[in-house]
Amino acid sequence: MLNQPAGALNAPGPAELFAQADRARRETIGDRVYLRGLIEFSNYCHRSCLYCGLRRENKVLSRYRLSDQQILAAANAAAKAGVDTVVLQSGEDPANTKKRIARLVACIKDTTGLAITLSLGSRNTASYRLWKEAGADRYLIKHETADPELYAKLHPGDSLQRRIDSLRRLGDLGYAVGTGFIIGVPGQNEAALEQDIQLVREIRAQMCGIGPFIPQQNTPLAHSPPGSVVKTLEAIARLRIACPHLNMPATTALASLAPEKGQLLALRAGANVIMPNFTPSEQRSKYRIYDGKKAVNMDIALRAIAEAGRIYQPSQVTPC
Ligand code: SAH
Repeated sequence: MLNQPAGALNAPGPAELFAQADRARRETIGDRVYLRGLIEFSNYCHRSCLYCGLRRENKVLSRYRLSDQQILAAANAAAKAGVDTVVLQSGEDPANTKKRIARLVACIKDTTGLAITLSLGSRNTASYRLWKEAGADRYLIKHETADPELYAKLHPGDSLQRRIDSLRRLGDLGYAVGTGFIIGVPGQNEAALEQDIQLVREIRAQMCGIGPFIPQQNTPLAHSPPGSVVKTLEAIARLRIACPHLNMPATTALASLAPEKGQLLALRAGANVIMPNFTPSEQRSKYRIYDGKKAVNMDIALRAIAEAGRIYQPSQVTPC
């Protein structure tokens, strides 16, 4: 069982910190919660990130790639359900050719009219440019940790500098960029949160997702303890206060560690976005970045919004 020890969620927590963050959120963003419909369209990945179940060394994972048709059907379902954005996410899959992604983006834009976020990892500028021209609006690529040494250890063959470079190139091309980081990943030190918040400011991110580390069984970090739900909520609150206008999702990782209340607690700690999952059910369980990943669907999202006393406005665009 991956859940936190029973007492953790009831711990008194820094009520004043959460109240201050909630106030900052209300005064800048208001009560509306934005829904980003997530489509995890391929779990192939050529990277070896130590914490992630999609890493190429994981031979146990059954791999899948959605067809163009399946992706378009999922995007239409998300649009009909009333999300305001479609998020296309995958591992770093060599089958994501520049042209295929551009075609998909143009087609989804055409049929749904919704904002499109891509989350496909590090790519060259020519690809990022073509996808922007095809209609992509935002790009999500988390910096994961702002500690360069830890980043290098967790991501063989990659560096924090390269990740930041991707974020900057995306910003220069006119994307709204989203980043994010993991709380409690093995090797993280006490100064980490300050560094992470500083980096979010430096790269002028417009979105930042904060999730707890969750061990995944077929990875080198399988036996490390999970990150803390309370520390994750505190990080959300502190970032909200530091960057009041930022879009901040209640992450699926948080919902997975605190299944009953994760989304609600995050909304109360400063989050203003939920990402319901529209990956077809047959493939959903195979996008196993960590164990016990929760399927956040529209019902769960809408319930959390209602319980938090916040507002959901279905998108104005009508899909054809
Ligand atoms: N390939 C894409 C995103 C794929 S995974 C990219 O490179 O941007 C999406 C996110 O899941 C990652 O950015 C990471 O923050 C999170 N993640 C992966 N494994 C995790 C784990 N074991 N615990 C917590 N979060 C994890």
